[in-house]
Amino acid sequence: MKKTLDHLLAPDGPFEPGATVAVRVDFNVPLSGDSITDPTRIDRSMPTLERLADRGARIVLLSHLGRPDGAPDPEYSLAPVARYLTTLDRFPVRFCTATAGPDAADAVASVDPGSALLLENTRFLPGETANDADLGADWAVWTDHYVTDAFGTAHRAHASTDALPRAVREKGGWAVGGLLMERELRFLGNALTEPERPFVAILGGAKISGKIDVIESLLPRTDALLIGGAMANTFFQALGLETGTSLVEPDRVEVARDLLDRGGSSLVLPVDCVVADRIAPDAQPRNAARAEVRPDESIGDIGPGTRDLFRSRLLEAATVVWNGPMGVFEMPPFADGTFAVAEAAAEASDRGSTVIVGGGDSAAAAEAAGVADRITHISTGGGASLEYLAGRSLPGVDVLSDGGADR
Ligand code: ADP
Ligand code: MG
Repeated sequence: MKKTLDHLLAPDGPFEPGATVAVRVDFNVPLSGDSITDPTRIDRSMPTLERLADRGARIVLLSHLGRPDGAPDPEYSLAPVARYLTTLDRFPVRFCTATAGPDAADAVASVDPGSALLLENTRFLPGETANDADLGADWAVWTDHYVTDAFGTAHRAHASTDALPRAVREKGGWAVGGLLMERELRFLGNALTEPERPFVAILGGAKISGKIDVIESLLPRTDALLIGGAMANTFFQALGLETGTSLVEPDRVEVARDLLDRGGSSLVLPVDCVVADRIAPDAQPRNAARAEVRPDESIGDIGPGTRDLFRSRLLEAATVVWNGPMGVFEMPPFADGTFAVAEAAAEASDRGSTVIVGGGDSAAAAEAAGVADRITHISTGGGASLEYLAGRSLPGVDVLSDGGADR
């Protein structure tokens, strides 16, 4: 059990008002020019930041944005994020054009209790992705405690997610998860270790290859594992079915066969599909039983029979984990399956089941289906949530202070 923000701020905790707290956030938001097109990631860290501001912390915010390749690049400046934080008007925020070094240290020295300073993009320095201990030590000089809400980068050991919290702990400070981090770990962790049953997982997306470990990890834990998306095509081949010109991973057919053998009736494949002569926005689709796909056709979505089947399995579940769209939902002819699953997941959630959505495209699909606010928990970490569901530990979590279980 890792220590949390509650432990840090508890009356008998180590936090003193006026302490400098470095907060690793995930402000890697989509930008169009210098305006933020979706501030969700910033908004989701506000509870943690407000809590710290209310308690008189001197907050220093660290985040990456995009992939600027270890050097300053105006395209990836966090300045628009600082402007957005200012418009929220929850606590005073200033921006520092330096990421580390003496200029950053000077700016940090003039932060008032209850205010925040946003440092420039951590990936403007090559030491960030190299997990440079010196960079961690540079930040740690002025850091009393470290808080992380950056679940989305917790699967990477970078200077701001590993070297810094390590250095802070070495000098006697605490490194803890913020409210968002805690929420992510609670929902995903509970699903893995003590799910309310029936526990149904539904997986889709483009490829099996990136998700074999997730399937392996979930198969023994779930009561049913539903498979859609292009991933299902590789399983169809394993069953000896015609998949036409569909996206298939020939080198994974053997793995799929093995999973089918081991999964037995708990591995549920589509019974029908939406097919067309090509996957395009103006394609003329038709519904086909899975055994009736023609050699010149591509599978672009799950069919109506499968939507009903998956819907009823999802509505029976007390815990649902969904990762991966059921079809090429970006194109209208192949979007219905994904939207039907999104709606069924939301309905399960309405009825009191715990529904967790992980994965960038799945979160986008839930959003596009208009059901995002009905889902119990949409994970902010694409890659990180998959790593976690695959049963792997996350470096950015491992590094945090231990011993929260006693409280
Ligand atoms: P997530 O980001 O939620 O983990 P993935 O990245 O694994 O999801 O997969 C998303 C992609 O899978 C989408 O872009 C979607 O178009 C694609 N996809 C789903 N079904 C099919 C299919 N039948 N054929 C081709 N691509 C598919
Ligand atoms: Mg994706």
